[in-house]
Amino acid sequence: MIVKPRIRGFVCITAHPKGCEAKVREEIEVAKAAKNPNGPKKVLVIGSSTGYGLSTRIAAAFGSDAATLGIFFERPSMKGKPASAGWYNSVSFEKAAHEAGLYAKSINGDAFSNEIKAQAIETIKADLGQVDLVVYSLASPRRTDPTDGETYKSVLKPIGESYTNRTLDTDKGEVSEVTIEPASQEEIDHTVKVMGGEDWELWMNALDEAGVLAPGAKSVAYSYIGPEITWPVYTNGTIGQAKKDVERAAAAITDAHDCEAYVAVNKAVVTQASSAIPVVPLYISILFKVMKAKGTHEDCIEQMVRLLNERLYGGDLQLDELGRIRIDDWEMHEDVQKAVADVWPEISSESLNVLSDFSGYQNNFLKLFGFGLRGVDYNEDVEVEIDLPSAG
Ligand code: NAD
Repeated sequence: MIVKPRIRGFVCITAHPKGCEAKVREEIEVAKAAKNPNGPKKVLVIGSSTGYGLSTRIAAAFGSDAATLGIFFERPSMKGKPASAGWYNSVSFEKAAHEAGLYAKSINGDAFSNEIKAQAIETIKADLGQVDLVVYSLASPRRTDPTDGETYKSVLKPIGESYTNRTLDTDKGEVSEVTIEPASQEEIDHTVKVMGGEDWELWMNALDEAGVLAPGAKSVAYSYIGPEITWPVYTNGTIGQAKKDVERAAAAITDAHDCEAYVAVNKAVVTQASSAIPVVPLYISILFKVMKAKGTHEDCIEQMVRLLNERLYGGDLQLDELGRIRIDDWEMHEDVQKAVADVWPEISSESLNVLSDFSGYQNNFLKLFGFGLRGVDYNEDVEVEIDLPSAG
């Protein structure tokens, strides 16, 4: 079929198989150009099909020849409809890894469940023996807790008082004002349940108990801090509480296992998760313009190459006062933050394309779904039903 983008609000409900492959191959080239022989060798990536998890998998595989097992929750093609972007990304990643002689297998299912944890452990036992790096990169709006069977939902809300700021309708290119009412205590608790550190700990306990965690292994989960303008809805909001719990979990994992667990604070990038956060897409559009002008712009893959090569496996973690890895250092640079803050009060729908890199944001967003890639013929009839190579 001929696949065109169909955008609904902040998601695109179609994905292009060849475009996703082109995007994955672009990231592979970045990883290959930064080889690190001291990197991880056997890696489990939980949340490996899009965004930061996918790029970490690519950086480990193509930067350090690592064997990778990826876990994700994606929609294969059904009834002739295209699969989700993460499905095509994973197909393309596996294909490229196998071509390069690298082990790559994937498990599609709910990472929060006991069944998927057991399946991952069986696969590691059978194929890899043990893993030396566990990457936890889930972003999910809900979680069913396997112990009580209850489903919890996360919300993106401020705490204590309502928050009003500028936001961007990325579909229409309109800047407007949004007011978000504060979360209830139950909403805060449920967001921590979904996006906090509990499930990361459950994974690490299960892996260690099964004897598939290599002695002295490393583990990393991702967080975000960002500028003060977004603090009420992010860092000081419900999601920020969950991220604090991830920091608690990092210390608990390091205490409980022969494993160094870290939180890496990453930079703001366009992903399916970040495009759903109010205010953040407007900030990202301005940030892109500022960082591109300074020559410090990075996407997920550049961030993850730097995280693995320079920090986690580069001998220089550069931890902050709370023990976190700060790979958001260039974003948080004083000059960059000042330049964004100067533009913020001025920006409007009319000045959006002048004062920000909104077109860069849009291109990035479309690329997440495999659209707008150079060398891909979007008028060509393409096969949308594609199996994961490792499933065959
Ligand atoms: P993303 O939406 O691109 O990726 C989420 C991944 O989680 C996908 O692989 C998806 O399949 C998987 N997933 C979701 N629910 C699942 C489930 N139940 N079972 C198995 N897999 C599941 O998100 P992202 O932006 O790359 O976020 C990853 C992490 O990075 C999050 O912790 C996020 O807070 C953090 N982070 C993101 C940004 C940003 O700007 N996007 C910045 C800093 C930190």
